This record gives sequence, structure tokens and C-alpha cells, in this order.
Amino acid sequence: MKIAVIGAGAAGLMAAAEAARSVATAETPAEVVVWEKNNKAGVKILMSGGTRCNLTHDCGPEGIMEAFGRGGRFLRQALTALPPSDVVALFRSLGVATQVESTGKVFPTSNRAVDVRDALLGYARRSGAEVRLGAAVAGVRPNPQGAGFLVRVDGSEVAFDLVVITVGGKSWPGCGTIGEGYRWLAELGHTIVPPRPALVPLVGGDRWMHAISGLTLDDAAASVWTVADEGKKSPKKPLLTRRGGFLFTHFGFSGPTAMDVSGLITAADFAKTRLTLDLAPQLPADRLAGWWDDQRRLGGHRSATAAIAELMPKRLAEAVVDQIGVVGAPLAELPRARSERLLTAIKRLALPVVATRGFDKAEVTAGGVSLKEVDPRTMESRIVPGLFIAGEILDLDGWIGGYNFQSAFSTGYVAGTHAARRLAELTCPT
Ligand SMILES: Cc1cc2nc3c(=O)[nH]c(=O)nc-3n(C[C@H](O)[C@H](O)[C@H](O)COP(=O)(O)OP(=O)(O)OC[C@H]3O[C@@H](n4cnc5c(N)ncnc54)[C@H](O)[C@@H]3O)c2cc1C
Repeated sequence: MKIAVIGAGAAGLMAAAEAARSVATAETPAEVVVWEKNNKAGVKILMSGGTRCNLTHDCGPEGIMEAFGRGGRFLRQALTALPPSDVVALFRSLGVATQVESTGKVFPTSNRAVDVRDALLGYARRSGAEVRLGAAVAGVRPNPQGAGFLVRVDGSEVAFDLVVITVGGKSWPGCGTIGEGYRWLAELGHTIVPPRPALVPLVGGDRWMHAISGLTLDDAAASVWTVADEGKKSPKKPLLTRRGGFLFTHFGFSGPTAMDVSGLITAADFAKTRLTLDLAPQLPADRLAGWWDDQRRLGGHRSATAAIAELMPKRLAEAVVDQIGVVGAPLAELPRARSERLLTAIKRLALPVVATRGFDKAEVTAGGVSLKEVDPRTMESRIVPGLFIAGEILDLDGWIGGYNFQSAFSTGYVAGTHAARRLAELTCPT
């Protein structure tokens, strides 16, 4: 009896380890073979988190689910089976101690992604999985000779009883993730929600924004709004707000907040959403207005730039004030309309977005295998029995912060565990 795992990334290595561990104690011997096209396993683990690997987030299952928006509910059972705390405990048992940063991101204490990759690869191998590197799979099809599948690899077809597909999405294609799995699964009857870049820098901005390229904000809040149809009122609440670091670049916008909201922007026509930036999220609008009145009353001789520079870097304060056309004017003499425009620019600076940097620079892929067609308790396809699907190839994309590895680990764990159980049922049908 044989299980094939295709793709040795976070999901595939976890699935292989769990499947191999489970079949090792079964009465009938079984093989777990992992096929990986690269000459190294876990290439994305190695490059992740600036080669430090942010392997999960310090929160419970609910916190992880929230990061996946509508897809979050699908993850509930997988996160119950392998929650973030268990990922931390598993890596500790594999010799990788972790530390939590103030943002909740979890990294190996060594700050070396290679330690995470080596631990996971070693775990899969010691559990009994055979990991074949440099072996690109070209397709998967049902075995016409009976049950099971034929996996096309290295010019021939190899028969397997069960297959776990964990080949990732289309992002960062230089790593080998070019989206082949979508075609195989579509041919097997699955619906593929059109893949699109997510966690990706955004292209856009006005000339003055490009002029402050390189400027970083440690605390800003990016919000995505729908553009109201003609005649309809604009919505009062944004679709999503993410608070944290933000970066102005020569092409547009980057940093965690811009990247976190990018998937929502790519989900719609660029013209149908608006991105705004709150430059002073620590001050709600009413407190900002009060603060501004105080500034005008108590320090009316000061310039607007000097006052605003208390809230943000001076370079940005100068650029914003310049845009409103109030450079040099003393605060006390600012016309009310200008003051209001200035406060609006601080709380809701409009950031025009026209494109993204594409899959080449996207940390994850949104879209993928429709979640309706996969059983969330087992990760088995509802269309093709015996086929399991896990990791980023599913229609799941989470925020920056270790959420995406957590999803890959949890779905991979469930797929591996249940593939082994299914194999046991095939071996000893009741
Ligand atoms: C630059 C960058 C930094 C990131 N940093 C983080 C981070 O710090 N924290 C976090 O949570 N997420 C991070 N991510 C996202 C995270 O890497 C992915 O969500 C995660 O790797 C998905 O795991 P996966 O196993 O589903 O897919 P992948 O890791 O993409 O693994 C898929 C594997 O399948 C292999 N494969 C593909 N096609 C075939 C084929 N035809 N035959 C055989 N093998 C094949 C690939 O080579 C690859 O090894 C980052 C992503 C990038 C690009």
C-alpha cells in the first residue's frame, strides 16, 4: 500500500510525517513517498520571514481563523486538531525552541529558518517517509486498472493508493510554485477559484508619495472601502482595516498593512475599491480634532508642519502640508476648510492603487481549490475519494504574521492523519 505526497513544503512535510507515523504502527506495511521538484525541501520555509521563518502566531485557533476572513471557518477543525500551541510544542520536541515577538509573531529562537526546515524534514524522514528530491510531478490521474492513482514523474507513471496534493500556489514562481496543481485538480473535476496575488506590494500613489519613497511608518492603519455605486451613499465602515507598519516606495505601497489588505483589493476591480491610510491611528477622529483645536489655541504662531510632525515623521508632515497648500501659514490663521482637509488627510489619506507587483512578489496566492469541494475534517476531496488536498493550493490566504504556515501545518497534519486512516480502511475493510 502506498501514499504519495506531492510537494515537500510546510504542508507536504507535515502531511508526510503524520501519515508515515500512523502507518508505521499499522498491521499492513505501507510506504509514504514525497515527491519534490526542487533539489531542496521546504524552499519557502528557508526564505520565509527574512530567512528567520515566522512559523506561527501566538494566538488560539480563533485568532488564526480571523486572519483568513471568509475562509477561516473552513480551518476550524484543522486548527482544533493542530492549534498554534501544538505547532510550538512539536517544534520544541524536534529541538527548535521558539520566541514570541511583541506583534505575536513566533520565530525560532535561533532566528534561522533552516532550523525549522531541517527539523520538519528530519521529522518526516524519521517517521518513515521517503523524500525524493529533484522529482517534478507532471500529473495525477485515476488508475484505469482499478482503484488508486497514477502519478506521472520522471517520464513514467507510478501507482499509489492515495495521493496528498500539497504543491502550493502560484506565488514566488522562482521557487518552483507555478500553479501546476490547479490544472491537475481541474482535470480531476475540481473547481478552481481564479488564483490572484495576495500579501503583495501595491502599485500606485501620486508623485508626492513617490518622492517620499523609503519612508516607513511603524504605526499606520490601512483600510479598504468599497466604492459606492452611483446614487448610493458611501459605506460608513471599511471592509477591512489593518494596523501596523507601512512603507512608501518608488512604485507605490508596501509593508505589512499594505500587503495584508492587498488580497481584498485584488479580489475586486481596482476601480471598485479605495485604499485609505490613517497616519495617526492612536488618535480617534474626535480626539484628533480636539488636539488640533488645542494646537491652534495654545500655539497659534507655529506652522502646521511643526504641529503635525508631532504625529508622524517630519518628511511626511511636510509632504502632507504641502499637498494641502498651507506651508508656512501660522496655525491660528488657517482657514477652517483647510484645517478640515488637513485632518481628513491625516485620518483618511487616499492612496490610489492601480495594480500589484504580481505573483513574482506575492507572499501567498489567494484563490485556489474551492473549499466547498474539500472535507474540512479530513482534507479529502469531496469529488475524488482518496485524494487529499492541503496547504496554500486551497482557496485560503491569511495575513502576514505566521498565519499561512499555521494553516499549511494544520491542513497538512489533518490530510496526513486521515490519508493514513483511509489506507487502514482500504487494507482492512470492515
Ligand atoms: C518570501 C516569502 C516569505 C514568506 N514568509 C512567511 C512567514 O514568515 N510566515 C508565514 O506564515 N508564511 C510566509 N510565507 C508564506 C508561506 O511560505 C506559504 O504560505 C507556505 O509555504 C505554504 O506552504 P505549502 O506547503 O502549502 O506550499 P509551498 O511551501 O509552496 O510548498 C509547495 C512545494 O511543492 C513543490 N512543488 C510544486 N510543484 C511541484 C511538482 N509539479 N512536483 C513536485 N513538487 C512540486 C514546490 O517546489 C514546493 O516545495 C512567505 C512566502 C514567501 C514567498
